Parts: sequence; C-alpha cells; structure tokens
Amino acid sequence: MDDAKQGEGETRLETLGDIKRHGYRLAVHCLNTACGRGRYVDIDVAIAKLGSTYRFAGKDGMRGVYGCSSCREEGRPHRNTAVHLHIPPR
Ligand SMILES: [Zn+2]
Repeated sequence: MDDAKQGEGETRLETLGDIKRHGYRLAVHCLNTACGRGRYVDIDVAIAKLGSTYRFAGKDGMRGVYGCSSCREEGRPHRNTAVHLHIPPR
C-alpha cells in the first residue's frame, strides 16, 4: 500500500456518516423503464433511519432501501431502485 496515494483527493466513503462529512449526496434512481425518476436522499433523514455507520457500499449497497413513491402509487414494483453517489458541487 502506497500511503502517498491515499492522501488528498482520495476520500474514503463507506458509511452514511462519511457521505455527510464530505458533503456528498445520494441519489436514488428508479430502474423501472416506465418511470425512471430520480431524487436525492436527505442524508440527515437517512442517518436518523439507518445510523451514521450504515455501510451503503456493502454487497448490495443501498439498493432497494429506498423505494420509488411514483411506482408505489401506480402499483408497479417500487423497490427496483439504485443509489448513486454524487460528488459535492465546488
Ligand atoms: Zn419509479
């Protein structure tokens, strides 16, 4: 392991607490082709619900943790979602 390469610019993002600390955002995208909506997760709400040590980068990440309200209202499977990490605006 070359420590020099672990310096600035390399941010370790494994938990919800990491995301909040570094100002990143989580976006939920609905994977239903009839829908395709996306929205941002309120990170404070996510931490309140799942805890700041929740590892979103696990085997399935946060896939399915957040449903799609549009699909739920319309009776489609609403857990077919993917969560993406968005880098903070500078
Ligand atoms: Zn949807």
